[in-house]
Amino acid sequence: AHLDRIGAVDGDVHAFLHTDSELSLAAAEEIDRRRAAGEQLHALAGVPLAVKDVIVTNDMPTTSGSRILEGWRPPYDATVMTKVRAAGLVPIGKTNMDEFAMGSSTEHSAYGPTRNPWDLERIPGGSGGGSAAAVAAFEAPLALGSDTGGSIRQPAHLTGTVGVKPTYGGVSRYGAIALASSLDQIGPCSRTVLDSALLHDVIAGHDPRDSTSLTDPWPSMAEAARRGDVKGLRIGVVSQLSGEGFQPGVLERFREAVAALESAGAEIVEVSLPSLEYAISAYYLIMPAEASSNLAKFDSVRFGLRVNPPGGGTVEDVMSATREVGFGAEAKRRIILGTYALSAGYYDAYYGSAQKVRTLVQRDFAAAFAQADVLVSPTAPTTAFRLGEKTEDPMAMYLGDIATIPANLAGIPGMSVPVGLAAEDGLPVGLQLLAPAREDAQLYRVGAVVE
Ligand code: GLN
Repeated sequence: AHLDRIGAVDGDVHAFLHTDSELSLAAAEEIDRRRAAGEQLHALAGVPLAVKDVIVTNDMPTTSGSRILEGWRPPYDATVMTKVRAAGLVPIGKTNMDEFAMGSSTEHSAYGPTRNPWDLERIPGGSGGGSAAAVAAFEAPLALGSDTGGSIRQPAHLTGTVGVKPTYGGVSRYGAIALASSLDQIGPCSRTVLDSALLHDVIAGHDPRDSTSLTDPWPSMAEAARRGDVKGLRIGVVSQLSGEGFQPGVLERFREAVAALESAGAEIVEVSLPSLEYAISAYYLIMPAEASSNLAKFDSVRFGLRVNPPGGGTVEDVMSATREVGFGAEAKRRIILGTYALSAGYYDAYYGSAQKVRTLVQRDFAAAFAQADVLVSPTAPTTAFRLGEKTEDPMAMYLGDIATIPANLAGIPGMSVPVGLAAEDGLPVGLQLLAPAREDAQLYRVGAVVE
């Protein structure tokens, strides 16, 4: 049914970069056989799963939305893929994304944009617009995404779906093509809080192949989602993220959701994150700095595309001809920015200062979590904008990340949960929930109350 649905709507939505119906049906039939043989299977066995193309898969190509990896077939599975296959989930395809997960609209994909199923003239968010659109358009009930600065949560907000960025280190990054290694985190996307919780439980846990993977045991997210209560919880409204700069219809739905939490028994307090005004600047130095280093491996020798300059040339000529053609404008912009910020003489002024701001943001969160168990804000300042509206103005695009990037800088978990439609344009609005590191279960507990 999901493959049929993809056939019917994906020509318009373009959530998928790759599907392989034979492969998916074979995997689904295998689950049917095992179930018929009386085997006790996982609750999600047989459920189709869309996979962001930043995650490597040993049976499907992986491009990370880039021309430079066109046609590349990874020789291995990411740890999350090993885990979802073991649980019996059925991967049904790879989803579109901004090139190397750089962007907020999916317009930076080398393979053309994904469109928002709510309004095909609008963007579905990014970088994981493909995963969110696939779920919103009923092409898949579940998806995997990656969140470096909001790429799971912001598309969820813009498409009326649930998206979760787990605690940094909570889900293995082995086999996730790195954008910014100290910020990246894989997480679930779905139409309900419980669905994300079930997938989260499958992918979480220690992985010796990821040196930043936490060794802590995790409580059941599904149990927290089923419990769904806020009794005795203090919910902190972030003052910097609940007023100026936010679309009125977004704020209206946000305030309603806060009121609903209060009537469900939560105590509402106001908290301040004073360093937030520097967070975007810090993020857009740290992220490109790490990206410039991570993308250096795409050198035309080890992976994907190779472009030979006319008349031959040195190995460096081949690398530069390949990178010229293989990377899009946004990837180049960030490689240049990151390389500059890390260069000798500028390190302290840029990268060093950004790291100090990162520490301040972490301290702000520590102080806020002394006053509140869970923090709330709108997930992003506006509803979905029109295709092309911000492509010429990278700064305008970056500013939309104000509510999501602090969680990545601090390593804490975050969720976006749909809370209705904005009155002025009828487009979805998401409530963002943030919890202290390792308290991911609290997000599911609270999220289940407001969805
Ligand atoms: N908008 C953010 C950026 O462009 C999103 C990155 C992400 O989470 N992958 O960097």
